[in-house]
Amino acid sequence: PRRKEPPRIHRLDESVVNRIAAGEVIQRPVSAVKELVENSIDAHSTSISVVVKDGGLKLIQVSDDGHGIRYEDLPILCERHTTSKLSTFEDLQSIKSMGFRGEALASMTYVGHVTATTITKGQLHGYRVSYRDGVMEHEPKACAAVKGTQIMVENLFYNMIARRKTLQNSADDYSKIVDLLSRFAVHHIHVGFSCRKHGASRADVHTVATSSRLDAIRSVYGVSVARSLIKIENSDNNPSSSVFKMDGFISDSNYVAKKITMVLFINDRLVECTALKRAIEIVYAATLPKASKPFVYISVVLPPEHVDVNVHPTKREVSLLNQEVIIEKIQSVVESKLRNSNEARTFQEQK
Ligand code: ADP
Ligand code: MG
Repeated sequence: PRRKEPPRIHRLDESVVNRIAAGEVIQRPVSAVKELVENSIDAHSTSISVVVKDGGLKLIQVSDDGHGIRYEDLPILCERHTTSKLSTFEDLQSIKSMGFRGEALASMTYVGHVTATTITKGQLHGYRVSYRDGVMEHEPKACAAVKGTQIMVENLFYNMIARRKTLQNSADDYSKIVDLLSRFAVHHIHVGFSCRKHGASRADVHTVATSSRLDAIRSVYGVSVARSLIKIENSDNNPSSSVFKMDGFISDSNYVAKKITMVLFINDRLVECTALKRAIEIVYAATLPKASKPFVYISVVLPPEHVDVNVHPTKREVSLLNQEVIIEKIQSVVESKLRNSNEARTFQEQK
């Protein structure tokens, strides 16, 4: 058979490249909400509220009372790779903010319609401006505004027919968004969160800023969870291993659920860690066979050089240096706390 001529290689149009990249960063409505809420947290907000219409496909609106965005910066706000958080590659080593790549807002403008309203401290009025494909659609318009920033994303994936179809057919993202906000609210207790469907009078997540973790858990996950929790804490300054700190709450034998709820933050980043989840499930099954599906909130602090934050933006699964050692440590803390509380209870019952 006759050999086929090799196809010519050509450079993709920048707009095509940007839209493909955007589709990876913003996979579903909940990914947009996560990016927007993290931006609000990075802006030192104390109150963040989210409104969602049609599972996020029609509208996602995130309003905060953070530091706002300067007028001069509005023209490049939604350009790719523009950020106020990172300058040199070395900064990544010690970065405290959630964002740093300057890709989230840009991505949203390639797959949806983005409008920002913002006001900075000491200004008499704010500005509103809309973006498409990374650029401002018009000069910012002066408008009335309260403190902070509101970002509105409309018609997400309007230009990605297959994505829109799959999302419309799948159960909508609203429950994922509620779950996300619930987790944030349990960790970032100095921020009040709310999340509701557009037009609904009642919020599905509603917390006020507090200094009590237990109060936060109670307002999100309910009284019955909150009254069956045990506090856990552990720190280890052994220089030969690594500095390691963790604290959290785990459910005791009074709590019964069909599946595990694990809220995990590592260095203030919301992550998933299947290995840790399994390890904890094993401890519960061995210690409390009857109530073996726990509620677990754990916050772990590790030296920044042990956590690589520069993985793919959507990668929620984390891989850590010395992961096995860390998991073992957490597992043994959970086990001893659980055993103690169970023994105390059995003792009480025998008296
Ligand atoms: P990144 O968070 O990685 O810097 P983003 O695209 O998410 O990139 O945001 C770009 C920039 O826009 C941020 O660095 C920040 O300066 C500004 N910004 C975005 N959202 C907010 C907000 N809610 N409040 C204040 N500034 C914001
Ligand atoms: Mg960001």
